[in-house]
Amino acid sequence: MSSIVVVGAGIFGVTAAWELARRGWDVTVLDPGSIPRAVAASTDVSKVIRADYGADALYTGMARAALAGWDRWNAEWPRPLYHQSGFLLLAREDMTPGQFEYESFQLLAREGQPVRRLMTEERASRFPAWPVARYPDGYFNERAGWAESANVVTHAAGLARAAGVAFHEGDGFSHLIERGQRVAGVSTSSGHDLRADIVLVAAGAWTPTLLPQLERVMWATGQPVVHVDAGSSERWRAPQFPVWAADISRTGWYGFPALADGALKIGHHGSGRRVHPDDPRVVLPEEIDRVRAFLEESLPDLAGAPVRSARLCLYCDTFDGDFLIDHDPDRPGLVVAAGDSGHGFKFAPILGALIADAVERRDQPWLPRFRWRSRGPDTREAARSNA
Ligand SMILES: Cc1cc2nc3c(=O)[nH]c(=O)nc-3n(C[C@H](O)[C@H](O)[C@H](O)COP(=O)(O)OP(=O)(O)OC[C@H]3O[C@@H](n4cnc5c(N)ncnc54)[C@H](O)[C@@H]3O)c2cc1C
Repeated sequence: MSSIVVVGAGIFGVTAAWELARRGWDVTVLDPGSIPRAVAASTDVSKVIRADYGADALYTGMARAALAGWDRWNAEWPRPLYHQSGFLLLAREDMTPGQFEYESFQLLAREGQPVRRLMTEERASRFPAWPVARYPDGYFNERAGWAESANVVTHAAGLARAAGVAFHEGDGFSHLIERGQRVAGVSTSSGHDLRADIVLVAAGAWTPTLLPQLERVMWATGQPVVHVDAGSSERWRAPQFPVWAADISRTGWYGFPALADGALKIGHHGSGRRVHPDDPRVVLPEEIDRVRAFLEESLPDLAGAPVRSARLCLYCDTFDGDFLIDHDPDRPGLVVAAGDSGHGFKFAPILGALIADAVERRDQPWLPRFRWRSRGPDTREAARSNA
């Protein structure tokens, strides 16, 4: 039986550990926190689950496979953690070729997905919170929604334990144990040596700090998340107020329906700010002001809503926005699964098998996109709104 130490118990690490245990590996998972760790990117009340990826057929295909997985988990698990509220994508101008909303709509429509372009009257009656004048175009995707991410990590970790995975909570990776060229295990912060055939580092935004050879390829980016109090009105809940994106490719704004307790989450998928993953997680006053300004323009009836909470969550950004899931070509025995770039959680139901296939060097059609790569003068660079 082959053995593996998995560094990091976020959604990448936990789903990989679970799948590898099911494939007969002897699996140990390390994490300095308790699972799910409060500061982990995977630990939140909600994440968007969508297949709307512009003209990118690979991610669209992966997301559609993941959606089938969310249905399966909803059927198998004690209660559904994926909520198919639908996804409303609004555009500040008419949707045109080359634009994210237009290309997403075209690709999903071609694939027979339940997407519907919204004419003004229909939009005004179905989604009344959004001023038509500000968002003259857009579409609604029924086959999308949100998942209770922290609860998903908790439940998946429970299933991984049941499959034989050993979790070392409260103890983290300190450094690699190397024997000659080969990685032979890890030393932990509490001074234990864990030897294994393979070490899988899935430490999210901490990955380039633990493995400095990756600093040019990936880094930690702070992204503020704000919850306002929307009260108990159905106006702020699905179906009238589903998961939404407000001209996201140009503005970065997206968000969720209010939860049962009235908390309504607003996120910004923008350039964010570079941070060290262990820096204090502070949301700056100007970041709150920016949310206020957005609400005044786009959701005026929420502009005065009190801020319930704010959190700085971290992306592990890669230079091109693609994940990195592969063996380190210079260090046999070391595999990395990181670089989520702010869009990895939706793939949870297929992530474990994808990462396990990479560990086992299996041919898998999506993996070449996530191969080990370096940054050069001609490499594609990811661009996000910095509005
Ligand atoms: C603001 C925000 C909004 C997002 N919204 C969405 C969304 O709507 N939809 C979507 O699909 N994705 C979204 N994402 C992305 C998604 O959250 C990530 O892709 C995913 O959670 C990354 O999982 P991970 O396991 O790589 O990292 P994490 O969940 O961060 O887990 C990394 C783990 O590594 C551990 N670790 C750190 N140091 C060590 C060490 N020394 N030893 C051992 N373990 C260590 C940490 O404790 C942590 O538990 C969002 C991310 C952010 C930040």
